[in-house]
Amino acid sequence: MKITVVGAGYVGLVSGACLANIGHEVTCVERDAARVTMLNNGIVPIYEPGLGRLIAANRAAERLDFTSDLAGSVGDADAVFIAVGTPSRTTDGVADLSHVYQAAREIAPALRGHTLIVTKSTVPVGTGDEIERVISKCNASARFAVVSNPEFLREGSAIADFRKPDRVVIGADDEGARRMMSAIYAPLRIESRRMVYVSRRTAELIKYASNSFLAMKVTFINEIADLCEKVDADVTDVAHGMGLDHRIGESFLMAGPGIGGSCFPKDTLALVKTAQDADSPVRLVEMTVAINDQRKRAMAKKVIRACGGSVRGKTIGILGLTFKPDTDDVREAVSLSIIRALQDAGARVRAYDPEGMEHARPHLPGVVFCPDAMSAASDVDALAIVTAWSAFRDLDLAQLKTVMADTRIVDFQNMLDPEVMRLAGFTYSGLGRGEADRSSYVVQAAE
Ligand code: NAD
Repeated sequence: MKITVVGAGYVGLVSGACLANIGHEVTCVERDAARVTMLNNGIVPIYEPGLGRLIAANRAAERLDFTSDLAGSVGDADAVFIAVGTPSRTTDGVADLSHVYQAAREIAPALRGHTLIVTKSTVPVGTGDEIERVISKCNASARFAVVSNPEFLREGSAIADFRKPDRVVIGADDEGARRMMSAIYAPLRIESRRMVYVSRRTAELIKYASNSFLAMKVTFINEIADLCEKVDADVTDVAHGMGLDHRIGESFLMAGPGIGGSCFPKDTLALVKTAQDADSPVRLVEMTVAINDQRKRAMAKKVIRACGGSVRGKTIGILGLTFKPDTDDVREAVSLSIIRALQDAGARVRAYDPEGMEHARPHLPGVVFCPDAMSAASDVDALAIVTAWSAFRDLDLAQLKTVMADTRIVDFQNMLDPEVMRLAGFTYSGLGRGEADRSSYVVQAAE
């Protein structure tokens, strides 16, 4: 099939390359001309494992190309996927749909023959109806159907997620559109129980409900981590003990410094707004948003405490800037809040990230960006591991100890073994790993 993907960001590029790889003829339309030039010169503007190879192979096979000419690539297409950004509006947290509607307005006059319009962007319930209205208004004779096909890829493993998805959700209110969508995904041979055919509004809500649930799960274990610190328990063991219950499951039970990234923060907020507008509040999600906001701000205090109550004039090393490992994405990353708070408290900051430094730099004036982890640790009074890049698990502890001015390590990802760190001579604090003050909490005594 001929497919046009509008927006060549994380979702558009991965979907475009993967759809081409299963045999479709794909054109990715991107309004950022510099990005198109890069892609046409074989440069991939984002870091996503395996994506460069996949794009190169499918360009070579002439199944994938990149352009800024939306009108020219929509006319021939059987399906047009919309994969543009839907960030939070800064004023009120509502999902900003201006890029989606703008794309719909640009697509409308170029439509020829019957075309499927597929929303991959994460959009609030009812957006499909509005896209339909916008297109009909711009082009009364257009023949099209609007389908919701929310994207569930995880940055860092996006290609594997496309090839072997947990589920493909297809929200279509007409049978022809449903059949066409199943033809698009047919080459992946997805088990039928993983193909979820629902109404368009239901599909839109599945995406927000899924992300909000995951955000809630992480927030829950983060609060349990805080409790563990007070009662001398270990959150990694609590999570393990909980997660083996298949009703709970082990994933998303890793305590950390808070939720960042381009999806969870904005999607939880958007669901809260939708639910409030529908007069059916989602109070657990409201709490999740509030707790997470507070947590991100509070995390710097952990470093300050580790430094004896003040970081004024001290130098802090930060390992990891991206919102999670295996991506270069720093949108809403917790590292940004932690670093800004440390700078506000008078600290100098040195930082290293394997892939995220270029994107982080504009957000972090005053930070010294270092070429590797050892350099970020050089002469620091404390070193904080903020993102769980696997390389940080294998730091050479002997060398680390010699380069640091002091031996304090704050491990926000519980990547290192507290006992090993202590034996190696570090003052180590993890997250939710007890021991803060063993005597501070005593259960009610027996009579
Ligand atoms: P992104 O910001 O990386 O990419 C969006 C791209 O669309 C940008 O390059 C932008 O220049 C381009 N664009 C905007 N308007 C355009 C237009 N009219 N014509 C052509 N190009 C246009 O965003 P993303 O991270 O890929 O996310 C896209 C959507 O997918 C969002 O709704 C997001 O919530 C959702 N989503 C993202 C992820 C993720 O992990 N990043 C996962 C699932 C769903």
